[in-house]
Order: sequence, then structure tokens, then C-alpha cells
Amino acid sequence: MQIPFTNLQEQHDSIKVELENYIREALNSFQFCKGREVNLFESDFSRLLNAKKCIATGNGTDSLFTVLKSLGIKQGDEVLTPAFSWISSSETISLCGATPVFVDVDPHYYTIDPSLIEKKITTKTKAVVVVHLYGQAAHIGEIRNICNAYNLFLIEDCAQAHLTAENGKCVGTFGDASAFSFYPTKNLGAYGDAGCIVTNNENLAIVLRRFANHGALEKDDHALEGMNSRMDTLQAAVLLAKLPHLKKWNEKRHAHAAQYTDLLKDNENIITPKQRPDTRHTFHIYAIRAKHRNELKQYLYEKGIQTLIHYPTALPNLQAYAYLNVDPQNFPVSTVLQDDVLSLPIFPELQPEAIRYICSCIGEFYRK
Ligand SMILES: *Cc1c(COP(=O)(O)O)cnc(C)c1O
Repeated sequence: MQIPFTNLQEQHDSIKVELENYIREALNSFQFCKGREVNLFESDFSRLLNAKKCIATGNGTDSLFTVLKSLGIKQGDEVLTPAFSWISSSETISLCGATPVFVDVDPHYYTIDPSLIEKKITTKTKAVVVVHLYGQAAHIGEIRNICNAYNLFLIEDCAQAHLTAENGKCVGTFGDASAFSFYPTKNLGAYGDAGCIVTNNENLAIVLRRFANHGALEKDDHALEGMNSRMDTLQAAVLLAKLPHLKKWNEKRHAHAAQYTDLLKDNENIITPKQRPDTRHTFHIYAIRAKHRNELKQYLYEKGIQTLIHYPTALPNLQAYAYLNVDPQNFPVSTVLQDDVLSLPIFPELQPEAIRYICSCIGEFYRK
């Protein structure tokens, strides 16, 4: 059996007709930037999340950068951010001229550890960026309380967390503003780069929209300097076709996660991912922690199973952050995770037989 890590073709085929209708309409409009589909997507997405405002952007990284800049993050500021994430959640802090201050992650849920946040706060700290890693809701209530107590902005990186929720409230609506990515392999994926920002703060929404559009809301109305980061109309058309299916696709991922966890539960060489109580995970990534991870990955590869590592180097240990001179000992959880996490295939169209095969290969590996 050959099992790829993702299979975009199958999802495409399952929605081909509606997708092609949306794309044809967008093509016929010749409004390739700021077209009707972009507005429709913004209103549909904010309604789905129960958020006041959505601003469509070019990608998730630009969304984070736009939020940080619009909140006034600048040189001399410090922003707390998890040590275990994709680089966007720290590189955008540096791009503002500020310093990313890494905080280790929780050993059970792999999101920023709230108990470590307060000791990292200084007079320079302006904001906390939380990442709902793999689709797991971070301890957002606790972090919100800390941010309120110290007067810090709270920014959510929801790039892996489309419809992640705590007690029914979607992530992306807890902080001052949040960033979503629609990179093709995310739970909601465009056919190229795309992203958005969500906020309940209507004044901030205006600044965000300006920043992502050269500082202008209307033509030639440049109230400030910004950048060019807008969602293409064609990408919005793809997302409009996919949005009605997101909930169902997430449910399929949940069923796959439950099947994996059940089949792997008796293997003492594996730790399966947990879902925080009272939250809804998206299982964008199903990452196990495995003894002899690299050998297991190679073994599965030889059995036709593609796996990935999210992420092989914790952020403070990357060359890019050598200048911060941080000691890996200060991030013990992240430094262990980089060596033992392994992401198994979990796209919605994956078949139960494939999961059984993957789990039996994992069992076989440890018996040898
Ligand atoms: C994908 C991702 C991003 C960046 O999104 P792009 O659209 O690729 O710029 C940011 N943060 C996390 C956690 C991601 O997984």
C-alpha cells in the first residue's frame, strides 16, 4: 500500500463541480484583486467563527506581521512566543524590529506553557503570540488573564486551527486579533497562498485593512504606510467552494485521530496526542511521540507510508536564532519534542484500512 501524507486531488475531485462554478464566475468578473468573492469569503468566514471582522490577506505570515505592526510592535519591544512552532510566529516579531522571547511549551499539549509566561515578562514586553499548534487549543483563558493583568496584547496564530474551539467558542476570537493561513495543505486550503485576520475590535480592523492595502481603504487614501497583502479573487473563489465542507472534513480528521489513538494505545513506545478538556481539536496534524523516531520514520517510508516531522528543530535551536544566544536547556520540552514527534497521514479522505495498515507497521517496527 502507498499512503501519501496528504492527498489534495481526492478533495478536489469531491467538490469539482461547485469549485469550477466559483472559479468560472471569478474569472468572468476580471476583478482579480479585491473582487466580489473576497468580500463574500470575509463575511462567510467571520460568520462561521462568530467574529465581528475578517480581513482577507495574501497568507498567514503576512496576517501575523500585519497584526503585530498594526498593534504598534516596534524596535525595543519584546513579544513572547512559543519555542515550538513554525517560524512564522517568531520571524514576524523580528520583522517588526522587536525581539521574540521564546517560552517553552506544555509537555502534554505542546502549546505555550502558561505557567512559564509571567517570569519572562519585562517592562519591554508588549504582547504574547499563542499558537494553537497542530489544531490544539492553547490555554487561552489563562493566557488572556495574564495579558489583562500585565496590559499585553494577545495575538492568536490560528494557521492550524480552523474551527478549533474552547467550550464552543472558536479560537481566533479570544485575542486582540488572530491570523489564519489557507496554505493548500491546511484544513481549509486555497490553491496557492492565502490568509486572513480575524478580530472583534472594529477600530483595529480598519487599521489592519489599511495596512494590508498600502495604508488605504479607498483609492489614493493612504493614511499610513502599509504593504500589499491581499487575497486573490481566484483564491477566495476556491475557499468559498470549500468552506461549507470544513466542518465535515474536520470531523473526518477526528474519526481518524480516534482510530489511530485506539490502535496505538497499548504500544508503550508511543505517546498519542491528547485533546485538552472542553476543547475541540482540528487534528491538522496527528503527531505521535515515538521512541527511535528517525528509524521508525525510515521503516514506514520503506512500507510506502509518508510521514513528516513538525518540527525537527525547535525555534530557539535554529541557526536563525543563534544571535539570541539561548541555551537549549531552557526549553527542555521543545528540545525533546523536536527529537521524538512524528506526524502520521491524517487527511479527511484517508481510509480506515490505511490507518490499520499504518498502525500494524508501527507495531511490527517495535517488535523487531
Ligand atoms: C502555515 C503556518 C503559518 C504561516 O502561514 P502561511 O500562509 O504559509 O504564511 C503560520 N503559523 C503556523 C503555525 C503555520 O502552521
